Amino acid sequence: MPSDPLLSVRDLRVAFGGVEAVRGVSFAVRPGEVLALVGESGAGKSLTARSVLNMAPHDASVTGSVLLRGAPVTPADWGRSVAFVPQDALSALSPVHRVGAQLALAVRSVQGVPKREARARAEEALEQVGIPGDRLDAFPHEFSGGMRQRAVIAMATVNEPDLIVADEPTTALDPGMRAQVLTALAERRDATGASLVLVTHDLDAVREHADRTAVMYAGRLVEYGPTDRILARPRSPYTAALLASVPAGDTPRKSRLPALPGRPPAPGGIPPGCAFAPRCAHPTARCRTELPAPRPLDGSEVACHLDVLESV
Ligand code: SF4
Repeated sequence: MPSDPLLSVRDLRVAFGGVEAVRGVSFAVRPGEVLALVGESGAGKSLTARSVLNMAPHDASVTGSVLLRGAPVTPADWGRSVAFVPQDALSALSPVHRVGAQLALAVRSVQGVPKREARARAEEALEQVGIPGDRLDAFPHEFSGGMRQRAVIAMATVNEPDLIVADEPTTALDPGMRAQVLTALAERRDATGASLVLVTHDLDAVREHADRTAVMYAGRLVEYGPTDRILARPRSPYTAALLASVPAGDTPRKSRLPALPGRPPAPGGIPPGCAFAPRCAHPTARCRTELPAPRPLDGSEVACHLDVLESV
């Protein structure tokens, strides 16, 4: 029997100056589950992820319901029950403080332990992500990009949060470092039992790590369900086109989304009806006027008017 969700997101909408960039997104994450958020750049993935943690930009208007164990997420949860791993590790680390001191501060601020104990815990946390403990007194600029991102993962998981949100944590890294960072993230998530929302363009990461996948387009979920089902038999023309844009057997570096013809609409220029209609291989007159509501289809939830998708 599925457990109650750890995170429940209902009709999340994020707007800037009255223009919605996230347009009614709903999903749930169970304890220990990994949910991948995928889609082309500008789909609203990162904004959704940040809004889930109550980290949307100050000028954003956010509505809808986001509940972690039944309660809204507040800044007091940051670094405790929820943690954020950004794309750019330098934005999460102070350049003027030693990595170990930053880790120890994170431990002390939540656990209230003595300095010596916090330092020992910081050293352990570094070693858990594959960084020798004797690098504790290094500054962030003395680490490689992959080490910095692993240090951020150590910082995010050192207080054993219930939920980690990772926003394209490997985008800036080369393939070797990317694998190391994803392995460190997966190992720490396994060890702590945390749930993970992984925003990514990397299909290999989705295939390898995500229990469920949510595909976003123009601020909405177009398909949401078990990863193996979505990757093997997508039901939305958008998901199918996105997957088809990745050549079979391609190298990890090339198996990154997207390479679809055309461009997604900007938030202020979303057409009526289905936003994907101008690029879709199967549009009907209905698609151009009626917004497709999410509905259950083959074990997933699909927002599309088509009942059967034969080909893309
Ligand atoms: S609703 Fe219509 S336009 Fe949109 S993805 Fe489905 S078939 Fe294509």
